Amino acid sequence: MAKHSDNHCIYCEGQGFYDVIVGGSETCPACEGTGVDEKE
Ligand SMILES: [Zn+2]
Repeated sequence: MAKHSDNHCIYCEGQGFYDVIVGGSETCPACEGTGVDEKE
């Protein structure tokens, strides 16, 4: 039962990218860097 507040991407928490331990950041494939989840 996830609560939907706004429609930000749950994978990257609306940032549009992940922090990667090995260095730098990686664009979130779920939202393609937008930080917004438009599905559902
Ligand atoms: Zn995302």
